Amino acid sequence: MIPTSRHAVIHYAEIGLKGRNRPFFERALADNVARHLEPLGVEKVERLPGRLLARLAQRRDEAAWTAALSTVFGIAYFAPAFEAEREMEAIREVVLAHLVPEPAESFRIRASRADKSFPLLSPEIERELGTAVQERTGWPVQLEGAALEIGVEVVYDRALVTFGRIRGPGGLPVGVSGRVGLLLSGGIDSPVAGYLVLKRGCTVTPIHFHSRPFGNWRGAEKRARKIVEALATYGMTPHLHAVPIGRQQREITVRAPAGFRVLLYRRLMVRAAEHLMLREGGKALVTGESLGQVASQTLEGLAATEDAAAVPILRPLIGMDKQEIVDQAHSIGTFILSQIPGDDCCSFLMPRNVVTRPRLKAVRQAEATVDMDALVDEALARASRIEVDPATSRLEHDVNARSRTARRGEG
Ligand code: ATP
Ligand code: MG
Repeated sequence: MIPTSRHAVIHYAEIGLKGRNRPFFERALADNVARHLEPLGVEKVERLPGRLLARLAQRRDEAAWTAALSTVFGIAYFAPAFEAEREMEAIREVVLAHLVPEPAESFRIRASRADKSFPLLSPEIERELGTAVQERTGWPVQLEGAALEIGVEVVYDRALVTFGRIRGPGGLPVGVSGRVGLLLSGGIDSPVAGYLVLKRGCTVTPIHFHSRPFGNWRGAEKRARKIVEALATYGMTPHLHAVPIGRQQREITVRAPAGFRVLLYRRLMVRAAEHLMLREGGKALVTGESLGQVASQTLEGLAATEDAAAVPILRPLIGMDKQEIVDQAHSIGTFILSQIPGDDCCSFLMPRNVVTRPRLKAVRQAEATVDMDALVDEALARASRIEVDPATSRLEHDVNARSRTARRGEG
């Protein structure tokens, strides 16, 4: 029902976009759209009043547009489009020329005028074009829930005719909210936390800690890398900081009281992550903690990690149930990656009992048994930066989207 097209109109949610922020927001969105459309052969992403217009070298079908744009945060909805001269006769011709032969169960025309000087009002445009389409096709008009929505958007120098309306992922364009460092374990939670801050417009630097030289740290590192590849599709910075802390963990185990070990590993991670994040110009850390999910995620436990950081720690999952997090992990494609075998560094040298409601004073005392600054420095000295290739995951994503569309088509 949707014709192939070289153009797509892209709409963003306008809340919070008043005044001076707007051009900044639009530029960021246009850049991100252009980057995602690169594999489709993008020629231009134009900023028109209140919307963007993307142009490709060749016509593409709805599935290709959807695969490329469904991961661009900041898009409220988009639609395959055609340009017409800003004049009723030309608009009618463009609409009629692109009606596909297969019949629509119902349709409606939806007109909007960014340019209020256009001689016809929106309802008049809708009536006139509705009649023309009906005469041509015999399709019934249905104002609510039409099978095909044909849009006419009158902007200043032209009109845009759109077919269908595809929902975008919402949120804000990656890049408008500043940089954060994500503590990415490889578990189910932290990838979802990363996704949620990307969705709010953050640029995200992923940071992973592993137990090298002990245990299956290679598996853990690979798992984190795969997750970054998947999240790079949504705009995560495609390099991973991998920090070995096995020796430092052992040092903590030898010296500090057993019940505080995990908290001290955490404080070590937070400090090292903060350093790496600040070096890239970041302003906050992000974790996948959710209140009460496990013994260490009590208010007291959160306060004990918070105490080690000089920057805000964002916890986007704080109010989510495990099942909600799992569902989200499935839908963004990271759940399956979290199953890649590897040893989590927190389970390495895990004591039998952990303190669940630690008092800050006791935590600091426990920490005083080791030279924490030196441990952090040693860990950072061995940190590596691993480049990941977002193109692979984008390709996989495209294929997935295509096979989903194909399945829908069969059914
Ligand atoms: P996840 O599923 O994200 O591992 P979790 O429920 O298992 O979370 P914890 O293991 O207690 O919770 O970890 C809490 C948070 O601390 C994680 O969400 C993550 O942000 C951070 N974290 C834990 N281990 C690591 C690690 N090895 N590298 C980086 N960050 C980590
Ligand atoms: Mg974990």
